Amino acid sequence: MINLLIMGKPGAGKGTQAKKILRHYHLAHISTGDIYREEMRKESPIGLIAKQYVSRGELVPDDMTNDIVEEVLHTHKYPNGFMLDGYPRTRAQAEALDCNLARLGLKLTAVINVDINDEVLMHRMAGRRVCPNCQATYHVANHPPQVPGICDVCGHELIQREDDKETSVLNRLRIYNKMTKPLIDYYREKGLLLVVDGDLPVNTVFKEICKGIEEK
Ligand code: AMP
Repeated sequence: MINLLIMGKPGAGKGTQAKKILRHYHLAHISTGDIYREEMRKESPIGLIAKQYVSRGELVPDDMTNDIVEEVLHTHKYPNGFMLDGYPRTRAQAEALDCNLARLGLKLTAVINVDINDEVLMHRMAGRRVCPNCQATYHVANHPPQVPGICDVCGHELIQREDDKETSVLNRLRIYNKMTKPLIDYYREKGLLLVVDGDLPVNTVFKEICKGIEEK
């Protein structure tokens, strides 16, 4: 059983790496960002609250996020393990996660931090496009769709996520540095941290991650 946590600044490429790792190790994906996007799409009570924060690039309050993850961890079984993606993002969330895992008799195998410099990141975020129908992701320069603005997979029109727009990205970066970056030390002290260079090609990053996981 492999239980992972993947971290990185917004746009570091953690989503791409997460997909590859999930497939390789047959893990369940627990992404709080995906959960919130789905709730917002359904316009559920949680979604309506989350929307106020997500659209501004702010963090949804810890209590609500912790409750959601607690429920997900307690109601599902993960025979091969899971990967937490985008959670925890604050010290209070990390501590809540520790309690939940201990109650379930589970442990983290490794915490992957996909590291990247801010300039590369701004370029990546500005060009990112997503399909609101099937969630496929593209980049106008690095990974364009065959027909500009149209999803290769389902033909739906692509959009720029509200929280990928520049002011929102800068805000998310500021929040990341203040709230989430300290978690790097938190997990380093626990001997779980695995840092990979997100500027390297996707497959090189992936190989480094696999090597690191196997060493743990
Ligand atoms: P992501 O796709 O992980 O970047 O998440 C998109 C947005 O969902 C974030 O900018 C936050 O507004 C919200 N969100 C996702 N995960 C969390 C979390 N662990 N704590 C608070 N807010 C979150």
